[in-house]
Amino acid sequence: MKEPLITSQKEGLKYFFLPAWEKTGLVKHGFSARKNNNERPDVDREERARFLKIWAKNEEELYSGEQVHGTAVCTVDRAAFRRREREFPGVDALVTAERGAVLGAFSADCLLALFWDAAVPAVGIAHAGWRGSCMGILSRVIEVFRYSFNTKPQDLQVLMGPSIGPCCYEVGDEVLHLCSGSPWKKEVVFYPGFREGHSFLDLRKTNSNILSGAGVNRENIHVSYYCTRCNQHLFYSYRGAGGRHTGSLMGIIFLP
Ligand SMILES: [Zn+2]
Repeated sequence: MKEPLITSQKEGLKYFFLPAWEKTGLVKHGFSARKNNNERPDVDREERARFLKIWAKNEEELYSGEQVHGTAVCTVDRAAFRRREREFPGVDALVTAERGAVLGAFSADCLLALFWDAAVPAVGIAHAGWRGSCMGILSRVIEVFRYSFNTKPQDLQVLMGPSIGPCCYEVGDEVLHLCSGSPWKKEVVFYPGFREGHSFLDLRKTNSNILSGAGVNRENIHVSYYCTRCNQHLFYSYRGAGGRHTGSLMGIIFLP
């Protein structure tokens, strides 16, 4: 599997992007890298501002969800855009057709997915850990694209950023239990674990299966294979830090 993301550096920060999207000039996007081994919790905010500066954007233009590991999706419509309503409570995914509205999400191991429908045009972002993934948050995003913008799933392109890989994502019985009751249970991919009552969850394959089940073409699904836990020199990892918060990977997407 070839890694589709490449890296660049601006504002003293390393970041990752998909060249095929970048060169169109029709959509702007990126994922932040770990700045250094600084473990001060307040470093997040400063990094966020500098990361946005790469695209000449600031926090006043950033829209994000509260990220509660749910499946709620909100549309940043013209009214919300004008109100500068920038934080959406109880929400893990956002979509918008407003030019200049920067959709952002944060993670340390969880998967961030960026959505782009060039035909509308419109963009979206979703935060998906095991709970959101197993409950099909990415399919909910597609429903909202269809409802809000009349998007045809075959027009959608999706990019999954760096996330904890199946190599490192051991989960307990409670995850299998939740997934067994999900309408997407056939799409969820587990591998046998080494310990009794544990398995390894593949967030990338699970979400790819859900996307193609919802009508997205396989060739329009781009997946980063960077494991955040295996690559802690590049990314923050909650598990890699022994369940402590050391910082967040930030993903953004917007229509210029
Ligand atoms: Zn790994």
